[in-house]
Amino acid sequence: MSSTIPSVLLNTGVQMPLLGLGTYKLVGPEDVYRAVDAALVAGYRSFDSAAVYRNEAELGRALKELLPKHGLTREDVFITSKLGPKDQGERAMQGALHSLSQLDLGYIDLYLIHWPGTQGMDVTDQRNPGNRAQSWATLEELHAQGKLKAIGVSNYTPAHMKELIQSCRTHPAVLQVEFHPQLCQRELRSVCEEYGVCFQAYSSLGKGELTAHHVVMEIAKNCGRTPAQVLMRWAVQQGVPVLPKSSNPDRVKDNARIFDFTLSDSDMDGLSALDCGHKYCWDASQVV
Ligand code: NAP
Repeated sequence: MSSTIPSVLLNTGVQMPLLGLGTYKLVGPEDVYRAVDAALVAGYRSFDSAAVYRNEAELGRALKELLPKHGLTREDVFITSKLGPKDQGERAMQGALHSLSQLDLGYIDLYLIHWPGTQGMDVTDQRNPGNRAQSWATLEELHAQGKLKAIGVSNYTPAHMKELIQSCRTHPAVLQVEFHPQLCQRELRSVCEEYGVCFQAYSSLGKGELTAHHVVMEIAKNCGRTPAQVLMRWAVQQGVPVLPKSSNPDRVKDNARIFDFTLSDSDMDGLSALDCGHKYCWDASQVV
């Protein structure tokens, strides 16, 4: 069963789908199985998990059952997971190996440092940079062994990105951060462009809340689409991959219908004009 979802080329030479299923708060074997099943039917080939979501094992199990059912193999899907903030630093190897064993899919396509800080440490703690560097060196080692096909970071600020780029041996492939019309992340996007890092969006629906914004609703009405489709189209039309989460199979399916229409320049500009720096998720700007 092939997919028509377009992809972006990472600096590792591998293609990553522009659409993936977010899985934060997708818990319990039945909910995970149902969402992954609906996603595979709708053409999704990318799945975004994390150690802190506590669903890596359920995602791995669901895929092992569902891939053959849909005539797919491990190589047809792109799995992302993330090192938990509690494992930042000297526990990084243990944390990453735990993700690999929980997913139990042989390798992970993309593994990210979830957060620039360390759980249990103050954001101003001067040990944070050293812990990040140690985590990155661990990810580089597992990448060299082929266990992590690509490595990257999440929630890094421009300063964290520059620190990493200046010290790394393996370049990060992806930066995953919050991105939607109210948070256009212009500085981070230009840092990613400068260093050849793929900029990937999370919470592109503003955790669902942005689907009720009057500007989004008006544009959706005018183009005969759902507000969620408009929000994701705004991102992918700029080449930014998205990871909408839904536990509702009908929404999972509808959320994939974003590659068969185009937003006009004025709609794109109208959405970008909502930029006000609003964050629905966590904020790493104070992490040293
Ligand atoms: P999101 O995708 O922006 O929004 C998810 C919410 O929107 C859910 O409550 C969902 O409810 C609802 N929803 C989904 N489709 C909808 C539709 N068509 N119409 C109306 N509401 C809809 O939020 P997110 O889960 O925070 O972000 C997406 C993914 O990004 C996460 O699942 C995770 O994989 C990743 N993420 C990463 C980080 C990080 O630190 N790296 C942080 C946050 C998120 P239902 O489930 O009931 O449909």
